[in-house]
Amino acid sequence: MILELTPEQRAFQQAAERFAREVVAQRAAGIDHSGEFPSDVMYAAAQAGLCGITVPAQWGGLGRDYVSYALAIEAIARASATVAVSLSVTNSLVGDLVAHFGTETQRDRWLRRLASGEILGAFALSEPDAGTDAANQKTTAVPVAGGYRLAGRKVWVANAEEAALAIVFACTTPGVRGHGITAFLVPMDARGIVRTARADSLGVRGLGCMDLDLDLVVGGDQVLGEIDHGFRLAMWALQAGRVAIAAQALGIGDAAVAEAIAHARRREQFGRPIAGFQAIQWMLADMATELDAARLLTMRAADARDRQENSTVEAAMAKLAASEAAHRAADKAMQILASEGYRRGSTVERLFRDARATEIYQGTSEAQRMIISAAVLADA
Ligand SMILES: Cc1cc2nc3c(=O)[nH]c(=O)nc-3n(C[C@H](O)[C@H](O)[C@H](O)COP(=O)(O)OP(=O)(O)OC[C@H]3O[C@@H](n4cnc5c(N)ncnc54)[C@H](O)[C@@H]3O)c2cc1C
Repeated sequence: MILELTPEQRAFQQAAERFAREVVAQRAAGIDHSGEFPSDVMYAAAQAGLCGITVPAQWGGLGRDYVSYALAIEAIARASATVAVSLSVTNSLVGDLVAHFGTETQRDRWLRRLASGEILGAFALSEPDAGTDAANQKTTAVPVAGGYRLAGRKVWVANAEEAALAIVFACTTPGVRGHGITAFLVPMDARGIVRTARADSLGVRGLGCMDLDLDLVVGGDQVLGEIDHGFRLAMWALQAGRVAIAAQALGIGDAAVAEAIAHARRREQFGRPIAGFQAIQWMLADMATELDAARLLTMRAADARDRQENSTVEAAMAKLAASEAAHRAADKAMQILASEGYRRGSTVERLFRDARATEIYQGTSEAQRMIISAAVLADA
């Protein structure tokens, strides 16, 4: 497990922190307020190379390790959770999959553009009846002349508002759940893919989440990986995705701690700063300790991914610990700021709403506990 960063990792972290401070932080409140997709910030992130962090340099990416990736997502989430998760979708759930499972032709067509940020990617797995039970895919891909007819509905597809490419999962062999699902590369401007409802979400506003109605024919050359192996691809991508969400949660939690400390030093009651009260000190101590513990799990999971080991359990532990620590940190920050935090438009109010999403997307906390408990019981 890594505890000490290499000089390269440290330098990359510092560059991401600078980008977050100088570019992202200025827009965070505005993105939250308007709920509009932050195309300008994503463009700047693309210029900084942040859309293809782990994609090999030969395909236009930065070719960094997952530890660096997690450090960058954490730094950006400290400024804006929305920008961090949008980047994590295009990096881990799309770029990574095309880099590892795409054919040369598919990489030629999509990967360089994804890695450079010229286009964004979206990951369409969830459906009205396939949330935690993601293997329950009702979208079908039926063989027809020249390819497959894709038909169904996807929900909560982040980045869909702006993405040029979606990885769409569909059932190719009914009745065998996760063993009969295939991943397809679908251009978002294809006829027969219709963006319908736009989610008006509590937090991570501006993520461009759309529902998609699908009824189109795709070519056999749009299959990503092998037929019926799509669910394995989705789970593989979600290992890194969950590390990124853990990092995102750490960034949100850190921002909550910073807000709480600043307020506790500033606000006086009973003739002294509230930071002098032990009740406040202990809340700050718990926030810092829980986030640091989760940070160790997150670094361990990122490191495991770098070693090409199966990091499913490490990623689940990191996401579970970090998202719940961020939730508690945002909650305690709200308590420390009290009426100031509860005011609509306060930074803590935004962090409180943003933190909550990390316990839901890319697998709920219950889904992570299912993964972890299965491993624990198997080992016992
Ligand atoms: C902001 C946002 C962005 C998203 N982006 C994407 C995206 O880009 N692509 C995508 O495909 N999806 C996306 N999602 C969907 C997300 O992955 C799902 O919301 C998530 O997997 C949970 O599914 P669900 O909401 O249908 O909840 P459900 O599965 O209906 O779960 C409801 C509750 O039941 C619990 N539960 C379910 N099954 C069990 C069980 N067996 N044991 C114990 N508890 C259980 C859950 O943990 C939860 O508490 C996004 C969601 C949000 C909110």
